[in-house]
Amino acid sequence: MTATIIDGKTIAKEVRSELKIEVAKLKEKGLIPGLAVVLVGNHPASESYVKGKIRASEEVGINSRLIRRESSISERELLELIETLNADPAIHGILVQLPLPDHINPDKVIATISPAKDVDGFTPVSVGNMVIGQEALLPCTPHGIMHLLQRSGVQIAGKHAVVVGRSNIVGKPISLLLQRADATVTMCHSRTADLASHTKQADILIAAVGRPEMLTAEHVKPGAVVIDVGVNRHEGKLVGDVKFDEVKEIASAITPVPGGVGPMTIAMLMRNTVEAAKRIGK
Ligand code: NDP
Repeated sequence: MTATIIDGKTIAKEVRSELKIEVAKLKEKGLIPGLAVVLVGNHPASESYVKGKIRASEEVGINSRLIRRESSISERELLELIETLNADPAIHGILVQLPLPDHINPDKVIATISPAKDVDGFTPVSVGNMVIGQEALLPCTPHGIMHLLQRSGVQIAGKHAVVVGRSNIVGKPISLLLQRADATVTMCHSRTADLASHTKQADILIAAVGRPEMLTAEHVKPGAVVIDVGVNRHEGKLVGDVKFDEVKEIASAITPVPGGVGPMTIAMLMRNTVEAAKRIGK
């Protein structure tokens, strides 16, 4: 059996087209969703991520504002900038591109973002609300994975999902969202003993490790749905955490890298910005 390829690029495009229509309707009512993207320094990967986010905003009709600051900016100055954006009625979403220079505490910066404008879903308030099932802007990558699964017709309720990785931005929140969608969830990490014995039980396997092609056919149950979150530069090319060529022969569905989870992350940022604008209003 060769797996169905879950095409994140196409599904993300679908999401953006839906948002474009929604934004046009909001504009008719005088509400223009506004996104502020704060970029400190000029880290090459960050430059490229930010460019993608601005491009997607333009496509959807979101008013985006790129705010650049030198890497010498002090923590206080950055916190003041966030406070100004929190109070700016034209801005509904605030995103601070990570990583930040070493002299700035990212936790402090993120915690300063108003939860109402927290389109990355990283503030402690957003995370807390997500955990207790209250209204919250959900973190983009796990939110994107849920859309990929749902829009690909993957049944989640009652299935066994195994998540490899427990980071705050991917592993932990995707485990929670899958559990909320009635999956039975196992979380694995670097101290998990006999990883394959767990991953082999997965109906839905989520790889969020950051190690090139670590999960091979030996880790996967025939017929499983495999979502590869990993983005790793390896021997000059971009690869996931899953050995794609091998695993696609036994899985029922799999996301490619690139073109799987990545485009969904940006699409969900757009969705969160529109959602935030609707909640905040004009
Ligand atoms: P982190 O480095 O924060 O977390 C990695 C997790 O993997 C940790 O929980 C770690 O365990 C676990 N881990 C490490 N080695 C092993 C191992 N040998 N066996 C089992 N578990 C292991 O990474 P992120 O969650 O931020 O990112 C993961 C990957 O996803 C990266 O490649 C990143 O680039 C990519 N990514 C892609 C996005 C997209 O939009 N496509 C968005 C965000 C991330 P422990 O906790 O014990 O250390």
